[in-house]
Amino acid sequence: MVDFSLSETFSPLTSAELIAQEKSMMDEHRFQHCIGVSQTAAKLARLNHYDVAKAALTGFVHDYAKQIPVSVYRQTIKEQGFDPDLLNYNRAIWHGIVGSWFIQRDLKITDPEIITAVKRHTTGDVTMTTLDKIVFVADFIEPGRDFPGVEEARKVAYADLNAGVGYELAHTLAFLIEQRAKIYPKTLLAYNQWAVKK
Ligand code: GDP
Ligand code: FE
Ligand code: FE
Repeated sequence: MVDFSLSETFSPLTSAELIAQEKSMMDEHRFQHCIGVSQTAAKLARLNHYDVAKAALTGFVHDYAKQIPVSVYRQTIKEQGFDPDLLNYNRAIWHGIVGSWFIQRDLKITDPEIITAVKRHTTGDVTMTTLDKIVFVADFIEPGRDFPGVEEARKVAYADLNAGVGYELAHTLAFLIEQRAKIYPKTLLAYNQWAVKK
């Protein structure tokens, strides 16, 4: 058992059941990342006067569906009425947008803010709630992250959550373009909304 507990307000599952279910879906490295995001989301919530327990839970479940097989994703997109254009992307994009469906199915989470924050956690969006921003940024700066620029990202995000969102989108877009990766349209729209200098 891990030394970690979660609010039982947002799911009929107990904290121990949520943790066990999450653990069963991923490898240890991903699981530790989810704990890091949960703790960082709680810290950002405290700084931004948001519900700490809700942020911690959302951070914990944000990558719940990250390691679900590609074949299951493709089938779910087709069967559950998702935009067929999603089939042109991969798990990097699916695990938030489609992942939110698995979170509702398996973890019985119904809170619309939590579901939306999971949906938006990879790409961001033009409209972002405080919880969306907290989870988006916590994912990028949790203690396990180590890449050039992460210290600057932490400094910016802890000083100003919106600036943290902008920093992350600029960094991610630059990285994706460097890789000549396909940009999901929402990532680009989010960049225009949050990263462009006023
Ligand atoms: P993780 O799940 O904790 O690894 O982090 P994220 O959910 O934020 O991102 C997963 C991956 O998706 C990262 O490698 C991002 O660079 C990548 N990603 C984010 N936006 C896009 C996009 O528009 N297109 C593509 N192809 N990848 C993206
Ligand atoms: Fe993710
Ligand atoms: Fe993540």
